[in-house]
Amino acid sequence: GAGAPPRPGRKSGPAGITHIIAVASGKGGVGKSTTAVNLALALKQLGLKIGMLDADVFGPSQPRMLGISGRPESADGKILEPMENFGIKAMSIGFLVAEDQPVVWRGPMVMGALQQMLSDVNWGELDVLVVDMPPGTGDAQLTMAQNVPLAGAVIVSTPQDIALIDARKGLNMFRKVDVPVLGIIENMSLYICPNCGHEAHIFGHGGARTEADKLGVDFLGEIPLDIEIRTHADSGNPIVEAEPDGVHAAVYNKIATAVW
Ligand code: ADP
Repeated sequence: GAGAPPRPGRKSGPAGITHIIAVASGKGGVGKSTTAVNLALALKQLGLKIGMLDADVFGPSQPRMLGISGRPESADGKILEPMENFGIKAMSIGFLVAEDQPVVWRGPMVMGALQQMLSDVNWGELDVLVVDMPPGTGDAQLTMAQNVPLAGAVIVSTPQDIALIDARKGLNMFRKVDVPVLGIIENMSLYICPNCGHEAHIFGHGGARTEADKLGVDFLGEIPLDIEIRTHADSGNPIVEAEPDGVHAAVYNKIATAVW
């Protein structure tokens, strides 16, 4: 699992953070942020101290998904206090920019902001800092993968080829910079009709498991396409927090245990 200490020669992260785990995807819209927040909450339920760094600078979703609004405070004008809900400390560009305002930045600005959100935030003691990565393999992703002492990366994909092709690229990026890939999660794996119970594989099924086998990484689990997952995440009360004993939480809990 993520138990390995940061390797020597890498930039060190904030002293109080034991493990930094990236949740990444090739494509946008595959449910990376939803998975990241539910995974963070499932890790918290294992009794761990958890933080969430929303590194998706151009599309920050964590303020909304964690149900947090308002601006972070700073006593000295340099170090920001993280925001907090559900016992999870969080930092996001979304706390600093209005929700309908675009972040229009070139690469160096983005990389500076990411570095600051890691280093200039009073994270305190954390067992795991979950990083909701931006989708793709550009500047920002590479900065995180190279400059941050990541204990590992989890890749989220939907089952269809078009998403898996990009997921593979994301995975190979981490491999190139020697970040251990902790496994692949298949999101929107299966749709069960709430009326008749019919199972529909809207985006196909099993593609991520096959891909994980091919690439020699762990397959961490299948999360169904379910309206409850969406409504809870999008309204700031993720399903793992809202229904900790439910079927969906059970899947995220299993993933959290595997990752930890
Ligand atoms: P990404 O971070 O990959 O861009 P998001 O996590 O923001 O994707 O998810 C995109 C949308 O899909 C959101 O509205 C989210 O609630 C929804 N969603 C994500 N995963 C699921 C799921 N398993 N079932 C239903 N809706 C989901």
